[in-house]
Formats: sequence, structure tokens, C-alpha cells
Amino acid sequence: MDVGARTHVGKVRRKNEDGYLIRGGLLAVADGMGGHLAGEIASGTALMVLRDYPFGSGEPAAELEEAMRAAHARVRQLAAEEPSMAGMGTTLTVALLRPGRVHVGHVGDSRLYLWRRGELRQMTADHSVAAELLRAGQIDEAAARVHPHRHVLTRAIGALPELEVDLIEFPLEPGDGLLLCTDGLSCLVDEEDMLRVLAEHPTAQAAADALVQLALARGGIDNVTVVVARPD
Ligand code: MG
Repeated sequence: MDVGARTHVGKVRRKNEDGYLIRGGLLAVADGMGGHLAGEIASGTALMVLRDYPFGSGEPAAELEEAMRAAHARVRQLAAEEPSMAGMGTTLTVALLRPGRVHVGHVGDSRLYLWRRGELRQMTADHSVAAELLRAGQIDEAAARVHPHRHVLTRAIGALPELEVDLIEFPLEPGDGLLLCTDGLSCLVDEEDMLRVLAEHPTAQAAADALVQLALARGGIDNVTVVVARPD
């Protein structure tokens, strides 16, 4: 598998609360939030729990959900022990690759895209106030793009007591690619430009680097993290 990743603090924020994980066929991005150091602790903790989870013995979707629930419990435990970390949380979008198949676990507004035959398709639904209103038909896409609560999450690892995980799976075809990213990319680079950059760069690492550079060139208003994988 050709896989590449890049994370960058951006041009406005002082610290990078995003993170990513690549461990064999396990790919993940996380975008943390919270005061002081809490955001990066939330994303880092969630990715560490994922890294240490013993995948491979059971059913992939069940394992993914269990690993994400363990990450949630761990982030909440840390937040309960340390008042300065109260309320911290993180997005978590995970792809678990199996022969011919991808299993995805997802919470928050980071994204997973499937790149197939020259098209890019977002496979995850954003868990943000604006995205939920859009799905409910209460606002249109133009309104969602400028909605004051477009970055307010309705689901996250850690932040709220209850956790609902989206589990998605789909078959992988020869030539497919995967793109995982935080909103620091998707808020500045539209799908047409993502697609163009993916097609222009022969390796996953070159594509990941170029996507991050494009977000920076457009202002880099948020931390930005990209994982690109070409499984075959
Ligand atoms: Mg972000």
C-alpha cells in the first residue's frame, strides 16, 4: 500500500491539535478541541488508544466501535481527573483496511473520501450543527457554508457523555484511493481541487504534501491534516 500523511499547524493557530495515525492497515485522523493543551491531549489520546487496540481477532466493525468507545472512555477519564481538561474532545475518523474492503468508524467533522475512477466521494457525514440542519432540509448548502455554527460539533470523542459512532463499510476496487482529512483542509479546498491534486501527484506522500500546501496557500486558518492511501 502506498500511504502518505502530513499535518501542519496552519498559519493562524499557535498549536496543532490535529493528529493522525498510520499502523499497517489502520488509518486515522483526529482534530482535538479544548482549552490550553486539552485539544492536543484529546486527539493524541484517542489515536494512542486506537494504536494500542488489538485489532484482528474479531469482526472489524465491532472492533472499530469498541476501540472508539475505549478512546472515548479514556479521554473522558483524563478530563474528569484534570479540571483544565474538562470538556475536551476530538473528532475521530478511522479506516480499517481488509482485503478488498474498508471499514470506517467516524465521529465529528473530519472526513473520509473515496477516490475512484476520477471521482471523489465523501463517505462520512459531518457531525456539525450546520451539516445536521442541511441534512434535515432546514437550510441549503449556501447557508450551511456560512452558518455561524458550521464548526460546532454535534458528536465528538470525549466531549459529551454519550457516544454514537457511525460505522460504514464498502468494497475496495483496484485503483481506488482513500483520503482522510480534518476540516482544516475541507474548509479551504473543495472536492474539485482535492481531486486535481490527487491526480497530479504520483505518490500518496506527494499528494498529501500538496494538499496541505494548498490549504496553507489559501490562508491556513486551521490546523490541517491529510492522510492519502492507495491500497493496491
Ligand atoms: Mg479543525
